[in-house]
Amino acid sequence: MANSVLARSQAPAAADALPATVEDVYRRCRDLGMRLSRQRRMVLDLLWAEKHHLSARDIFEKLNNLGRNIGHTSVYQNLEALQTAGVIECLDRATGRLYGYRSDPHSHLTCLESGSIQDLDVQLPADLLRLIEEQTGFTIESYTLNLCGRRRPG
Ligand SMILES: [Zn+2]
Repeated sequence: MANSVLARSQAPAAADALPATVEDVYRRCRDLGMRLSRQRRMVLDLLWAEKHHLSARDIFEKLNNLGRNIGHTSVYQNLEALQTAGVIECLDRATGRLYGYRSDPHSHLTCLESGSIQDLDVQLPADLLRLIEEQTGFTIESYTLNLCGRRRPG
């Protein structure tokens, strides 16, 4: 097969699938009728600045290191409200719950050495999606791949 899944996975996602900016997310929260308290904006700003998957504790510590006055309970409650509203992503891992800034469908690459998780935009070949649709009788609307590996030396 000339077009393997891996070769195609290098292709960037379509422009309309790009992650939202923090301003987009403020707007989305307002559209959803969510109050944008100072603490909620702090949490969103940090997630968008870091662009990593962080635990509630990481977020609490980073905000406090930045001199932001926010309690652990407030961080936790805001994260839960934001993920329930579908504004941020939430990953349940063996080590605990992680939050990320993207809520659009995307894939993850986990490093088996460090446990770090990268966001990836993987596009499966159209013929593979068609095959899955034929075999399942479903129309595929979105997908998320969980890839695990180790960084190659050199
Ligand atoms: Zn992610």
